[in-house]
Amino acid sequence: MPTLVMKFGGTSVANLDRIARAAKRVALEVANGYDVIVIVSAMSGKTNELVGWVSETSPLYDAREYDAIVSSGENVTAGLMALRLQEMDIPARSWQGWQVPVMTTDAHASARIEEIPTKNITAKFDEGMKVAVVAGFQGVSAAGRITTLGRGGSDTTAVAFAAAFGAERCDIYTDVDGVYTTDPRITSKARKLDKISFEEMLELASLGAKVLQTRSVELAMRYKVRLRVLSSFEEPSDSAGTLVCDEEEIMESNVVAGVAYSRDEAKMTLISVADRPGIAAAIFGPLSEAGVNVDMIVQNISEEGRTDMTFSCPKDQVLRAEKAMQDAKASGAINFHDLVADEGVCKVSVVGIGMRSHTGVAAKMFKVLSAEGINIKVITTSEIKISVLIDRKYMELAVQALHDAFELDKAG
Ligand code: ADP
Ligand code: ASP
Ligand code: MG
Repeated sequence: MPTLVMKFGGTSVANLDRIARAAKRVALEVANGYDVIVIVSAMSGKTNELVGWVSETSPLYDAREYDAIVSSGENVTAGLMALRLQEMDIPARSWQGWQVPVMTTDAHASARIEEIPTKNITAKFDEGMKVAVVAGFQGVSAAGRITTLGRGGSDTTAVAFAAAFGAERCDIYTDVDGVYTTDPRITSKARKLDKISFEEMLELASLGAKVLQTRSVELAMRYKVRLRVLSSFEEPSDSAGTLVCDEEEIMESNVVAGVAYSRDEAKMTLISVADRPGIAAAIFGPLSEAGVNVDMIVQNISEEGRTDMTFSCPKDQVLRAEKAMQDAKASGAINFHDLVADEGVCKVSVVGIGMRSHTGVAAKMFKVLSAEGINIKVITTSEIKISVLIDRKYMELAVQALHDAFELDKAG
């Protein structure tokens, strides 16, 4: 039997009615002759609630316990989906990550999948089971502890299963009907893309477009998984949604494919650190060990042997970053005058493989932002993207203005 992976995100399993609706979709694919692996997220809002409980109990929590707690939302939906399918006379059962087992690294809260043995589930398919419902987002480390794959990680579970089982396709069902030129919640002018290249999707995802987790796109690209994003609320059709595919499969595209944003960023500046060989390592080593995801870095010009070092990181990691820096100062590894955190910033980025062959995108981006009176605090670029850090209050305005200026509402 050919295998299909179908992933349902939080809003698609938000209550019992939605689970029943999703189960009907699964039944259609079973009727089409597929063995189906269903990956489910927690009911929408559940993971946030669990994360809130963790932070309230222990601000600098033990990540192993964080994982034990926040992975639990998926267990409920996996069981409920299996029960719903059984009520429809479809042979189904649920699997938690450790039962498969989804083997991961021990990087708690951001673990990577290392192996998914197919033996157990295949044996059940061979016995006549039609649907394996797997709790997304979670796995187990070699030490036997429960791990999670980072927020949005069920997408990655889905793609990893599609790769491991050689699935014909991996369908990601969500609350929008595909990948858009920008988040359709920010501008009604956002346009749905029929196809997007792996590379552009990878950049958009890593720059904040949460429609797919970055790692899921990486895996799909590496293992050539046919990845489709579509709505669980619309009627099924073969051409529905957005196909994430190789660049060669796309005939025409704009220079800029999309605009992404990351709302909750922080800009941290170490004032007056010694400008000497090894200073960057002395700062960013401890930050990395503390689990801080440093993104942009700027070192200012030095004066009399001292300089300011600025970096950005997710807002909810400011506490960790501050502690790491104060500890490094206390140990004598670094010395700084002051540590200033600006928690009111966001990152806005434009992405497109067309930038490889077109110049002037950065200049246009800066001009558009300046015309709106938006001050740029930090800039980073790569071959196919330009990102800026700006005040959070201008986020929507910046996304809309860039979307307009690059005419993303029109097909290329
Ligand atoms: P799920 O719970 O199904 O995993 P997510 O909330 O993680 O859903 O992702 C879907 C959301 O991603 C959409 O509701 C949308 O607001 C947001 N999003 C951000 N950027 C984009 C984009 N470029 N295209 C489509 N959706 C986007
Ligand atoms: N429930 C997890 C989260 O909210 C995983 C997911 O939905 O993909 O991050
Ligand atoms: Mg998601």
